[in-house]
Amino acid sequence: MVRNGKRKDTEVDSDKSKKQRAGTSSVVVKTGKYCEGCGKPRHKRESCQLTAHPNYNEKGLWIHSEGYRIKKAWLEANGKGDDHPELRWYE
Ligand SMILES: [Zn+2]
Repeated sequence: MVRNGKRKDTEVDSDKSKKQRAGTSSVVVKTGKYCEGCGKPRHKRESCQLTAHPNYNEKGLWIHSEGYRIKKAWLEANGKGDDHPELRWYE
């Protein structure tokens, strides 16, 4: 008596050996690439211009701040959930 319950999964890995190691991904925004006070790139919290903003992040990481949460929610509500949240004066 032969049961057909067992499947023989032949592994399909013929193409996997051709791996290219050219591109390390550059898409991810890393911590430290932007201001921890307002989330904007190209300056640090020490030289941030938005210290008077109500949602300015005084300590800790921007991504853990209230301002980040608010901006993130706003971006998602506006269909831009993939954008990096950052403070703006007029929002
Ligand atoms: Zn800043």
